[in-house]
Amino acid sequence: MNVGFIGIGAMGKPMAQNLLKSAKVQLYVYDINAAAVAELAAQGATPCRSPRELAAVSAVIIMMLPNAAIVESTMTGEQGLLAGGKAGQTIIDMSSVAATSTQKMAALAQAKGIDYIDAPVSGGVAGATAGTLTIMVGGEAAAVEAVQPVLQMLGKKIYHVGGSGTGDSLKVVNNLLLGINMAAVAEALVLGVKSGLDPQVMLEIIKESSGRSYALEAKTANFILKNSFGGGFAIDLEYKDLELAMETAKSLDVPLPVGATAQQVFAMAKAKGLGREDISAVIKVWEELTRVQVRK
Ligand code: NAD
Repeated sequence: MNVGFIGIGAMGKPMAQNLLKSAKVQLYVYDINAAAVAELAAQGATPCRSPRELAAVSAVIIMMLPNAAIVESTMTGEQGLLAGGKAGQTIIDMSSVAATSTQKMAALAQAKGIDYIDAPVSGGVAGATAGTLTIMVGGEAAAVEAVQPVLQMLGKKIYHVGGSGTGDSLKVVNNLLLGINMAAVAEALVLGVKSGLDPQVMLEIIKESSGRSYALEAKTANFILKNSFGGGFAIDLEYKDLELAMETAKSLDVPLPVGATAQQVFAMAKAKGLGREDISAVIKVWEELTRVQVRK
């Protein structure tokens, strides 16, 4: 089967590499980053010069892009996927975007007889590499069923949530919690260190206690305590996800005071120039304010 993959970034690269491992998949790739495309090409993928060219040769097309504006520009326009696509194809958008944008793209695809499903993921770069992502899928049941074999090459837990955009809505809720938890872990660890506690000891004990969370477990051990903030989930991207939560909440008249505060913590980190670092780097904001260092 010919599979096209657009967005060879922190997540997209290991996901595309997992598809390459399957003897059943012929992989076509596109990214504006020529180096990322060249790396995949050296491993056996066929490079394409535009989304349009990629759509012309692919039965299933996957996007793993930073945000909805980029997904929309990849879909539309003279060199877009829709210009090169044809009836019977399926486009799977695995980026984290607004459900409203997905519904708009799904309608455009549908008009050409192309199935469009939203399938955002959780599990980070580690899950993308291991092929163990959790995938939250929205779209028509038959279209979702047809691409199960491809999704199973990328993730372990695949949930069909409902119609178009429901996968995105679930991902927004998940990442609202991730952002809140990460901001809370940063300030709590700083308080602990200022109280004289060892960060490693805090991690070991809280991991087994009621304050535990994914943000504490995965981000403290793998990033904060290693003083290494590359190759994870960028602060810019989590800020975008918190913005999606705030926009959704506004449209549904739901107050999100805790989420709004978490978003401001990420805004502080962005303002400090930490936008491309992993979300755990928000701790640097509190370290600077309080003049303590949790990192080794
Ligand atoms: P990234 O910034 O590392 O990668 C994005 C890729 O898209 C880059 O290779 C970039 O060159 C490419 N790109 C940008 N504009 C493009 C365009 N116009 N055409 C083609 N390619 C283009 O981001 P990432 O961390 O891989 O995240 C991708 C998506 O997955 C985001 O929506 C993010 O919110 C979501 N996500 C990320 C993680 C994580 O842990 N990193 C986890 C779950 C979900």
